[in-house]
Amino acid sequence: MTANPYPLLIKQILAAPLAQKSPHEIVHADIRRYGYPEFAARIARLGGLLGELGLGQGSTIAVMDWDSHRYLECFFAAPMIGATLHTVNIRLSAEQVLYTINHAGDDAILCHVDFLPLLADIRDRITRPFRLIVMQDNPVQAPADLQSDGEYEALMAEATPVAGFPDFDENTRATLFYTTGTTGAPKGVFYTHRQLVLHTLGVAAGLGPIPGSGFNRDDVYMPITPLFHVHGWGIPYVATMLGAKQVYPGRYEAARLLSLISEHRVTFSHCVPTILSMILNAPGAEDADLSGWRVIIGGSALSDALARSARMRGVAINAAYGMSETCPFLTVADMMTTRTEPQATPNCTAAGKPMPMVDVRIVDETMSDVPADGVSTGEIVVRAPWLTSGYLNDPVGSGDLWRGGWLHTGDVGLFDASGALRITDRLKDVIKTGGEWVSSLALENLASEVAGVSEAAAIGCPDPRWGERPLLIVASRRAADDVKSDIRARIAAAVTAGQLSKWATPDRIEIVSSLPKTSVGKLDKKALRAQYVIDKVQA
Ligand code: AMP
Repeated sequence: MTANPYPLLIKQILAAPLAQKSPHEIVHADIRRYGYPEFAARIARLGGLLGELGLGQGSTIAVMDWDSHRYLECFFAAPMIGATLHTVNIRLSAEQVLYTINHAGDDAILCHVDFLPLLADIRDRITRPFRLIVMQDNPVQAPADLQSDGEYEALMAEATPVAGFPDFDENTRATLFYTTGTTGAPKGVFYTHRQLVLHTLGVAAGLGPIPGSGFNRDDVYMPITPLFHVHGWGIPYVATMLGAKQVYPGRYEAARLLSLISEHRVTFSHCVPTILSMILNAPGAEDADLSGWRVIIGGSALSDALARSARMRGVAINAAYGMSETCPFLTVADMMTTRTEPQATPNCTAAGKPMPMVDVRIVDETMSDVPADGVSTGEIVVRAPWLTSGYLNDPVGSGDLWRGGWLHTGDVGLFDASGALRITDRLKDVIKTGGEWVSSLALENLASEVAGVSEAAAIGCPDPRWGERPLLIVASRRAADDVKSDIRARIAAAVTAGQLSKWATPDRIEIVSSLPKTSVGKLDKKALRAQYVIDKVQA
């Protein structure tokens, strides 16, 4: 007798809620809702359909959809037939979408009708022949002259379900997506079944025990991180394994998100800070009952001001840290204690403590650990069983990512006295002035404390004497001079209190109505540098 090797496969994530007989539902806004048995039956049907189209082991299947039940079905069916799921970032430019489709070598594209015009523009330049399945929310939406293999639901109705998904090597690639890269062409990041299963288990083990706000099967889960962004931060897999109720909101519109939160009593979400801010400031938000809603904030630093305004609305916030190349979870903060304090502790850049199975070091340029004295900063390097092994077809970039056997995050941070990781900057965003490193996040955090400031970004401007000097760009609707003097006073107080070096005081503060964002809603510092640094050089 030989023991069964039990490869770690995504199909086992789906088996868990079925074995548990989860009574909960999967809901796509007001479009579709069903229980876990029907979810599994539809995945078997989708697996059959993909097979009938000639897709299987070695194929790459792209999805361009809003956050829907269909997308979740693809999260399972595509990898479960041995194919790679390519989650296309639909907010990229048409040229970048084209680049990613060609680079990935997609064999099929499952495309929502809203993105068909984009696809029509680039279709002639897609180098590989591909199957096209059209997705839609409303049957009358479908254009009559589609040159496609058919519509998702119609094809599903006719497909023969897969009788049982096969076992295969757990190191088979399961997912692929492209980083939104601030420089150069997008880079393909990929994960195997084994990595996604371990990430699912690790995140469940990391989020579950958070005192008073752990993620468990009685939660009602709604992502507000697009499913194309690091496969929805991997949480749809966790929610499925737990058998929790899941609500997929379709296209993100603040009013719809608010009404889904209240209609379904959503308890658990995750998003980048700008999305939370958009929801809290949306018309009607002040009347919405958000108590009982817990939100993991990641992708960018959570400012004290945003944490406080969320808490004042009864929203429980926990910061987390990760990146596209890390699946993404690395650390999570247990912010229960700070949540119950009337004033959040200053500097919410705390990104928490490492999750189970994650090794975090902070190193200097020679890969030696910097002292864990709460002051010394260095680059954050990590190891975990779920980090990407490299960039697709990019051996040079992959080698650089894994220099010295550790994944280099490109982020600068320190461990504070409690053992929590604080992100102080990205290596390329650090402002180097007269030999000192100034944390752009610290400046942004202080500026966002000032009344009427909705967003803030600090960047380094070339300076002949000091190398660089900080420039603070702030979005506010208040009178510019008033905001500037309040910010200057807040920064001066931080300098006096020893929280900030005096060199960090910005020479220049610009007030604008809004700041540019990347395709996943983060501050776009590349765009700001292009605008302000060139302006300054020309001035
Ligand atoms: P992305 O790969 O687009 O998801 O971006 C990952 C980057 O977002 C990280 O390398 C960090 O620079 C930043 N980031 C993620 N989480 C946090 C956090 N909690 N605090 C500060 N920056 C963060």
